[in-house]
Amino acid sequence: MNKHIFATAIAVCAFFVSASAQITAIRAGKLIDPESGKVFSNRIILIRGDKIDAIGANLTIPPGAKVIDLSHYTVLPGLIDCHTHLADGAHDSDPMGVFRKTAAELALESVPNARAMLESGFTTVRDVGTYRALGDVALRDAINRGDIIGPRMYVAGAYVTITGGAGSDSGLAPDIILPWDMRYGEANSPWEVRQVIRKLASNGVDHIKILSSGAVLTHGSNPHSQEFTLEELQAAVDEAGHFGLRVESHAHSAEGIKNAIRAGVASVEHATMIDDEGIELAKQHGTYLDMDIYDEECIQEEGKQGKMPADFLQHDAELGQIQRDNFRKAVAAGAKMSFGTDAGVCPYGTSGKQFAFMVKYGMTPMQAIQAATTNAADLLGRSNEVGSIKPGKYADIVAVPGDPLADIRLLENVQFVMKDGKIYEDRASRTQE
Ligand SMILES: [Zn+2]
Repeated sequence: MNKHIFATAIAVCAFFVSASAQITAIRAGKLIDPESGKVFSNRIILIRGDKIDAIGANLTIPPGAKVIDLSHYTVLPGLIDCHTHLADGAHDSDPMGVFRKTAAELALESVPNARAMLESGFTTVRDVGTYRALGDVALRDAINRGDIIGPRMYVAGAYVTITGGAGSDSGLAPDIILPWDMRYGEANSPWEVRQVIRKLASNGVDHIKILSSGAVLTHGSNPHSQEFTLEELQAAVDEAGHFGLRVESHAHSAEGIKNAIRAGVASVEHATMIDDEGIELAKQHGTYLDMDIYDEECIQEEGKQGKMPADFLQHDAELGQIQRDNFRKAVAAGAKMSFGTDAGVCPYGTSGKQFAFMVKYGMTPMQAIQAATTNAADLLGRSNEVGSIKPGKYADIVAVPGDPLADIRLLENVQFVMKDGKIYEDRASRTQE
């Protein structure tokens, strides 16, 4: 076929496909609305293109609409994980693994991570840093172009870290020079912090990840330590603000957490050793606590299999229970909580397992769902686009059999996933074209 005619034929087909597939109707048996905290029965959701058009009990389904029957299922907004690392290659508990792979290998290994995340029901992620800078930007853009399958990604580009800090690639002899993309985010003064953030902003990131304490899963790092000064953290929040970007801070230590909150970050990641003053400060400043209380299970399990370095296991064993107890305290105190799992520590596609732990440690099932929908959307600054099933928002919709408010573990096995009005997983519906 002549190339020009072929291209025209494709364009014509695409036109008819989009015209005929433009309206989709979902029959939802039960519908969880995290905005109101209510559950509705027998709702119809009308979707036009990639957006939700209308929702109600007695809507007329337009003739020619594609009807998706989820009348025996509970329908929820697409889930949001606010702490992922999708661009770090295949799940690998060895932190030295990153030094054995090229940037291209890591990038290609990350393709199935994105797919697993989406197919498990997480239609949006806030991806909070990668060992090789800007791999996450490339992954986001490949998904947005439709080249590969994955969730809607909001990315950090790199870790903003002190030299030798929690976000640096450590454990190598000092005379080994790392490539540029492994030291991109290093900064050691307020002005260097600003410079790194200017670079990140010009490279198209969606938010900034800074580290204000040592880490568990970094060699030679002490999670009890404080990293960056208050002045440096304030510079980060101020500079990011010039570009309309929010800042999240990794922090385990009580002082690292409080410094980050005082500096005005949008969320504290891990928040492991948060004390009463820290919880109070978080409430005053409206700071989200994004506590990854499930991944301890994976770290200790891989430890038993001899896959995890001894110093990591030591850090983790001390801190895992402390973090869970502090999660319970923060929930009881009424601090703002979001859902973040540190996906990559546990295998990709298993984030849903954190819901049961959030309920075990003090949340109601509805609160746990809100953490991963309305709260997460608020933390991203995207409440008008994602986080609930409302007209005008993206058609990001998932479904499970049974009642997840009675059995939260149903969210570990999501049976239907739609993102942007397009179905990516369907073990549930009896769809009629
Ligand atoms: Zn992380």
